[in-house]
Amino acid sequence: MEIRVVPLPEERKKPKYNDESQLGFGRLFTDRMFIAEWKAGQGWVDARIEPYAPFVLDPAALVFHYAQEIFEGLKAYKWPDGTVALFRPEMNARRFNLSADRMCMPEVPEELFLGGIERLVALEKDWIPTSEGTSLYIRPTLIAVEPVLGVKPSDHYYFYVILSPVGAYYASGFKPVNILVEDRYVRAVPGGTGEAKTGGNYASSLKAGLEAKKKGFDQVLWLDGVHRRYIEEVGAMNMFFAYENTVVTAALSGSILNGVTRDSVLKLAVGLGYKVEERPIDVNELMADIEAGKVKEAFGSGTAAVITPVGTLCFRDVCHTVGDGGVGELTQKLYDTLTAIQYGKLPDQFGWVKKIG
Ligand SMILES: *Cc1c(COP(=O)(O)O)cnc(C)c1O
Repeated sequence: MEIRVVPLPEERKKPKYNDESQLGFGRLFTDRMFIAEWKAGQGWVDARIEPYAPFVLDPAALVFHYAQEIFEGLKAYKWPDGTVALFRPEMNARRFNLSADRMCMPEVPEELFLGGIERLVALEKDWIPTSEGTSLYIRPTLIAVEPVLGVKPSDHYYFYVILSPVGAYYASGFKPVNILVEDRYVRAVPGGTGEAKTGGNYASSLKAGLEAKKKGFDQVLWLDGVHRRYIEEVGAMNMFFAYENTVVTAALSGSILNGVTRDSVLKLAVGLGYKVEERPIDVNELMADIEAGKVKEAFGSGTAAVITPVGTLCFRDVCHTVGDGGVGELTQKLYDTLTAIQYGKLPDQFGWVKKIG
């Protein structure tokens, strides 16, 4: 599909940030956005890149009432030689369409998804920060905009992409987080929407997150919604536990998100000589293994935070320190290797990197 580029008037250009260390995450957006519309009977129409601006939506638009919404998250990296690269973006395209299918939304053809992102990022490449650990966060989103109060799939959608220059997630260093294992609230159940990246999953997770923060925790670790016994995932991260020679993560049960970083970590861990296991992880066994010193390291994986070391896990008022509570050797190695591939500092032996322009 042809992409129309609407001119960006000089006066619409935003002031650029001048201190990359103050970028934070997801607060600042670039000058332009990509948008295409889907209309029943017509399919995808009017793909265009426009100056970044608020939408005017009818207050009855379906997204506001019945939450027909999905999104993705990936990053563009600027290499020291000026190359701009994406990391496994076709995985995001595929997952976006799995989410769309679950929420009865139209498929976004891969050429439109990737073509829109690539064209937009190429136009906005001067916004990509270059200091250590910084990148351009890419947020593709699909929303239902038909104005009708009816529980039904919309007949009109916006697919849009916005870009946010983001700072190093660990501005104050690579620091282990403290996690509360949540056994009262649940995030998802088999047959539900846990495997889709859809807004409602996050709205319903806020309460547990706030209560955990009040108690001094950084995040919650969800258990499965049926038995409240098997480890699922954390916020927007998949979880890993490293034993002596084995790295264990929860199997894709249908209620956890199939992370691109999760898949990359599994492949890198094999390369580092570990056996990897995707299986149900019983929280009681896990806590006993941490207590016995068998679990050497724990960490989360996701696009935003890359790899996050876990210092302590608390379950039913008992806290367990993983290893010595610091950043484990494997955790550090995985972070270093993954980011080196993303920033073009290590050969891309898996074919994960997609250069733009
Ligand atoms: C996005 C997300 C992840 C991480 O997926 P990546 O593809 O690695 O970024 C994990 N869990 C949830 C709930 C998510 O939304």
